Amino acid sequence: MSNSQAARRRGLLLVISSPSGAGKTSLSRRLISEHPDLTLSVSATTRTPRPGEADGREYWFVTAAAFRAMVADEAFLEWAEVHEHAYGSPRAPIMRHLEDGRDVLFDIDWQGAQAIARSAPEDTVRVFILPPTMADLARRLHARAQDPEDVIARRLGRARGEIAHWREYDYVIVNDDFDLAYAQLSSIYHAERLRRVRNPWIARVVQSLLDEA
Ligand code: 5GP
Repeated sequence: MSNSQAARRRGLLLVISSPSGAGKTSLSRRLISEHPDLTLSVSATTRTPRPGEADGREYWFVTAAAFRAMVADEAFLEWAEVHEHAYGSPRAPIMRHLEDGRDVLFDIDWQGAQAIARSAPEDTVRVFILPPTMADLARRLHARAQDPEDVIARRLGRARGEIAHWREYDYVIVNDDFDLAYAQLSSIYHAERLRRVRNPWIARVVQSLLDEA
């Protein structure tokens, strides 16, 4: 898409939530890698990095004091406590991406999804990813082998609470088969981008069509 077209498009906020281990991160990363106009909102968190995670890529890893300072500066569009740690979506890069005509993807929990939808109801699309079964979720958390047993147990315990919010989302995908779930997510994104409200430039096309007649 050319810059001038992008500038005439209204960016969307694509919020994806799920219990940990349901595959939302893999789905999100693939959607981003295949769509240059879509950017990930990299959250700040007080949790420690898992093996393989890099500062500024998966998260900005910050101290509790630095996080509190960002909250005080109103540097977050939303923030929440999840699994005993604080997580927040930094406001400035999000606003910059939207001004550049890009879409922003959020890999955040139900509290963040609610907050973003409240702050920009017309621009927010919420997608919830479900695991096919709880046994499958447990298997995926163990296969990830990045968290100690007690952390996995806590994440499983929290999964029910997260799933309870499924009705607050516009779309729900059951991630049984990754490629199918990805195709569904991609369809949602493509259709949502085509919504009339996100494409105000169409009014000018219509005007010139009518002027031609
Ligand atoms: P994890 O520690 O497994 O990376 O993430 C734990 C949970 O926090 C996930 O459900 C994730 O989506 C959520 N999360 C990550 N970043 C944010 C954020 O900026 N805001 C909110 N509200 N939740 C977040």
